[in-house]
Amino acid sequence: MTNFGTNLNLKGKAALVTGASRGIGAAIAKALAAAGADVAITYSSSPDKAAAVVKELGGKAIAIRADSADAKAVQEAVTQTARAFGRFDILVNNAGIVTYEDTLENIDKVLAVNTRAPYVAALAAAEVMKQGGRIITIGSCLGENVRQAGITLYSMSKAAMTGMTRGLARDLGPRGITVNVVQPGPIDTDMNPADSEYAASQVANTALGRYGHTREIADTVVFLASEAASYITGAQIAVDGGTNA
Ligand code: NAD
Repeated sequence: MTNFGTNLNLKGKAALVTGASRGIGAAIAKALAAAGADVAITYSSSPDKAAAVVKELGGKAIAIRADSADAKAVQEAVTQTARAFGRFDILVNNAGIVTYEDTLENIDKVLAVNTRAPYVAALAAAEVMKQGGRIITIGSCLGENVRQAGITLYSMSKAAMTGMTRGLARDLGPRGITVNVVQPGPIDTDMNPADSEYAASQVANTALGRYGHTREIADTVVFLASEAASYITGAQIAVDGGTNA
C-alpha cells in the first residue's frame, strides 16, 4: 500500500546549495536539512553568516568558500561535498547576482555566476551522483517573460537555465538524474527587498497581489528533491504568484 505523504523525507541524502549564507539559499538549505538531508553550502564573502547558517542546519552540515565566478572553485565545492558526506544526491544552483550597468566586467560576472556556474556545478555533480540524483536551479520569472526595461543581462542569464535544464534532463535522464528549474517571482530578500521603489510594480504583475516568501521557494525545492517528484524532469516550475500566468 502507498504511504501517501511520506516520500518527502530526504534522510540519508547529501545536498549542496550554492550561495546559501542568506536569502533564498539559506531558506533552501534549512528546508533540506529539516527534511533530513546532510547539507553543504557555499559562500563567497561572508564566513560568519555562512557559519551561522551551518549552526542552524545541525547534523553534518558544512560551509565551503567558493566564489561562483570561479569555475574551478565551483567544481571543487562539488567534489568536497561528495568527499565530506560520502555521496552526492542533490545539487541546488542558487547563487545569483543582478547588475544594472552593462559594462564588459558586469556582463562577464553575471554570466559567470548565473549561467556558467550552474552548468559547471551540474556537470561536476553528475560525475559524483552514483545512485541517480536531483539538479535544481533557481532561475527567475524574468528568464521566461521580461516585462520590464533595464534588466536584459540578468534575464538572459536566467533564460539560459531553461535550455540547460532541458538539455541536461535529456543527457542525464538515462542515469536517473532529474533536472528542473524553479522560476521565482518577487521574493523579499536583500536582492529584491519588498520595501524598494520597484516593489509595487512587481506586486502588480502577480496574480496573488503580494511578494513571495523564501519558504515558498524552499518548499518547492524540497518537493523537487524528493521521491514525490520522481517523474518530473526538464520542467520549469513557476513559483511566482502568477507573475507569468
Ligand atoms: P540574495 O542576494 O539575498 O542572495 C544571493 C546569494 O548568492 C547570497 O547568499 C550571496 O552571497 C550568493 N552569491 C552571490 N554572488 C556569489 C558568488 N559569486 N559566489 C557565491 N555565492 C554568491 O538574493 P536571493 O533573492 O536570495 O537570490 C537567490 C537566487 O534567487 C538568485 O539566483 C536570484 O537570481 C534568484 N531569484 C531571486 C528573486 C527575488 O525576487 N529575490 C527572484 C527570482 C530569482
